[in-house]
Amino acid sequence: MRTLSFGAFACATLLGSCPALSEMSEQQYDFVQANMIGVFYHEMGHAIIDTEEVPIFGQEEDAADVLSALLIHETFLEEDAQSIAFDAAYGYINDPSGMEAVAYWDNHGPDEQRFYNHVCIFFGAAPDKRRALAEDLGLPEERADWCPAEYEQASEAWGTVLDEMAKRPQKDTLVFIPGTGWHADVLNEIVATEVEDFNANFTLSHPVQVRVEPCGQANAFYQADGRILTMCTEFIDHMLELEKRY
Ligand SMILES: [Zn+2]
Repeated sequence: MRTLSFGAFACATLLGSCPALSEMSEQQYDFVQANMIGVFYHEMGHAIIDTEEVPIFGQEEDAADVLSALLIHETFLEEDAQSIAFDAAYGYINDPSGMEAVAYWDNHGPDEQRFYNHVCIFFGAAPDKRRALAEDLGLPEERADWCPAEYEQASEAWGTVLDEMAKRPQKDTLVFIPGTGWHADVLNEIVATEVEDFNANFTLSHPVQVRVEPCGQANAFYQADGRILTMCTEFIDHMLELEKRY
């Protein structure tokens, strides 16, 4: 368990030497950081499914979302975990106006459903401490009743895989390749911290490259061919845009 790192923000406020960061308020930075952690853990879900040959019954995208919520719960101390889970929940809603047509054919579930699944797993992990959070996020009682059981099931399924990776000798199987360009400094710092933390706790069966780079779209993806996890720098502006709308 750890607390959130504020290294990047401190750099902007204390030294004044991070130009892209200095334009971000603390609230904006928190929103961006929480969402990039949530997205990174989701992509790690795809990476682990590939390297550990995890059998998936159902949608792989759902399994990756579940891992993301579980890792937020497992990695951070309560206050930080709640703040990340709260901000990362809103990261699922790409169209807060609700005007965009739902793409039911998509391999990701509808945004609102991903939002509630995320809130449910995170709430179900510690219902006594997180009732207020679940209420703030609008989790209905009808669903909330099931969340502790949903968490248990998720935790057992992913727990077996995570335990296996934790037992192996430490080997730095995530290899970080920092990026350059607009907002790369922000994303480099956030992702580097997560890579270091993952390597300290887990060893994959095969190494995976984690790259921060511009990709022409606000996205992140895992390519099984070559085992490359890419976090796109365009995501930062997308998150700042979303943050403005909330
Ligand atoms: Zn995915």
